[in-house]
Amino acid sequence: MRIVKTIAEIRDIVGTWRKSGLSVGLVPTMGYLHEGHQSLIEKADAQNDKVIVSVFVNPMQFGENEDFDSYPRDIERDSAVCQKSGGDVIFNPEISEMYGEYFSSFVNMTTLPEGLCGKSRPVHFKGVCTVVSKLFNIVCPDRAYFGQKDAQQLAIIKRMVSDLNFNIEIIGCPIIREEDGLAKSSRNTYLDEEERKAAVVLSRSLSIGREIIENGEKDAEKVIHAIKEEILKEKLAKIDYVEIVDMDMLRPVKEINGSVLTAVAVYIGGTRLIDNFII
Ligand code: AMP
Repeated sequence: MRIVKTIAEIRDIVGTWRKSGLSVGLVPTMGYLHEGHQSLIEKADAQNDKVIVSVFVNPMQFGENEDFDSYPRDIERDSAVCQKSGGDVIFNPEISEMYGEYFSSFVNMTTLPEGLCGKSRPVHFKGVCTVVSKLFNIVCPDRAYFGQKDAQQLAIIKRMVSDLNFNIEIIGCPIIREEDGLAKSSRNTYLDEEERKAAVVLSRSLSIGREIIENGEKDAEKVIHAIKEEILKEKLAKIDYVEIVDMDMLRPVKEINGSVLTAVAVYIGGTRLIDNFII
């Protein structure tokens, strides 16, 4: 697996592929790849001639008291996972390669980043939009792959691509889970044994919410209440948010009609985990 550190080299490689008429898929990640990432890489491999996986822990999308320093990193392991999933090249730039000394341009968005995760992570989506725009401009892929696990991020990227006319197709991919239902995440490595058991409360409470909606409940408050009640049974859990929002602008809905996103963020001990479903 070729690991490329510079923008010039990536542009060279993509340029050569383009000359041969090959299509290119991009899978942006922060590394420490698991089966969730693998599913994105496999899909990219199935739909494109060549696949670039970016591995970059982007400092701009972490708040001051967040886990940028402790975020797990292992490029050798990532390289092996990437290879077996069908990736062709890993783009793994240094921070200085992405953000030069005088860096001062940002991609910001109104409304969509304001609720859900944006409330407790106010700088997060500005960092995400900026780095993803840069990756899009560096790689110029035909398609880019994002997980439904980060539902707000996926909605924001789709909006950004439409608003700013990036000529890239955004492909959303389903959430990959552990056997007990916990959504796979690089941050699951922070959990000790007891916390790992407790973390299943996210998917369990969402399943309860889904069942209530499937049984015909239209009142969003009642569904949210049932989900919160289930989460609060778990003593290691602390709720950041439980929300039901519309799919277009991610605004809270009162009545469940049409497509809605039900999303939760919960601290298990010191680890903040997210999960969601669309119905
Ligand atoms: P990350 O490395 O956490 O920034 O994630 C990189 C990409 O992988 C994002 O588009 C995530 O939504 C996606 N992803 C992370 N975990 C999962 C999962 N469990 N299932 C599907 N996609 C995922």
